[in-house]
Amino acid sequence: MAKKPKLTHRQKRQVSVNRSKRLSEPSKKSELEDSQLGEQQTGRVIGRFGKHADVEDATGLIHRCHMRRTIESVVCGDEVLFRPGKDQTLTISGIIEAVQDRKSVLTRPDFYDGVKPIAANIDQIIIVSSVLPTLSLNIIDRYLVASEDVEITPVILLNKVELLNEEQRAEVEEQLNIYRDIGYQIVYTSCKTKTGIEQLASCLKDKVSVFVGQSGVGKSSLVNALLPEADEIIGDISDNSGLGQHTTTTAKLLHFPAGGDLIDSPGVREFALWHLPTERLTNGFKEFREYLGGCKFRDCKHGDDPGCLIKKAVKEGEISQQRYQSYHKILANMDEVRPSHAK
Ligand code: GDP
Ligand code: ZN
Repeated sequence: MAKKPKLTHRQKRQVSVNRSKRLSEPSKKSELEDSQLGEQQTGRVIGRFGKHADVEDATGLIHRCHMRRTIESVVCGDEVLFRPGKDQTLTISGIIEAVQDRKSVLTRPDFYDGVKPIAANIDQIIIVSSVLPTLSLNIIDRYLVASEDVEITPVILLNKVELLNEEQRAEVEEQLNIYRDIGYQIVYTSCKTKTGIEQLASCLKDKVSVFVGQSGVGKSSLVNALLPEADEIIGDISDNSGLGQHTTTTAKLLHFPAGGDLIDSPGVREFALWHLPTERLTNGFKEFREYLGGCKFRDCKHGDDPGCLIKKAVKEGEISQQRYQSYHKILANMDEVRPSHAK
């Protein structure tokens, strides 16, 4: 993968000129007149597509809204201040005026801005993996680091467990018990037999969650098992546009009947570990934290350095050998996960 090219001074200036132009542009006709708008109120963004957002008000009504030009970004899960449109026959009737501080945010790297938000106010990240073709603990570790880095609680979910015989199941549980011992919650599911779906539902209750994981592990199947009517809801939102044109839903927030929400979008599903400075990667290994700062050398690489507390903890069985090796594997490949260009 190519390294991120450096911008010349001229390009940088151009970027910043373009940005300020965008900000100071006078309101276009499409922006709604003051007289067409009701009182400002709070709401939550439950759908995000193109230049618009669907905002759910306190009573559960959904308002399709424009956004004030001064707002940097609006993503699913955002708590916003908005003014609903008085004329509900208009396709896009309201306007979002401000985004409240986010309690957490999922991001992806962005060519110009460093990072770009993809979803907000998430309580937990469900890391979906499956036993087929093989269970990769290193991939789980990567998602764990990425989750720890954004300070959102991860949950490890292993899907397709009906494919395991008793012996294989015991083996897999032993491997995953490492994570349970570190303090992570583990959920075993099968969309085929519906095993563990109820346990998953109770893990999701009253929280805002996202499913992440590699393609083919069963994220869509899990959403369908939990919310069989999800596709219809999404279909409804798009059909209501009345524009007779194709509206692509880029992100949506779905409510679970028992309470709690799921934010889903291709961008959210692609949440992954991107390049991190070494300290942040190390800190993403939760069980390493209590030893950090105690190594003999300040710039200890936690390899063969003398007086390394991490290495000592591995030798003494306090830190798992497998996690330690996984850490060094991720560290060695860190440069491969730099974003090559903006999407
Ligand atoms: P996604 O790419 O993560 O959204 O994965 P999908 O939900 O599309 O599932 C990928 C494939 O795995 C599909 O063929 C599903 O039918 C299959 N699949 C999903 N869950 C299970 C399961 O619990 N057991 C088995 N055997 N197959 C499953
Ligand atoms: Zn060390």
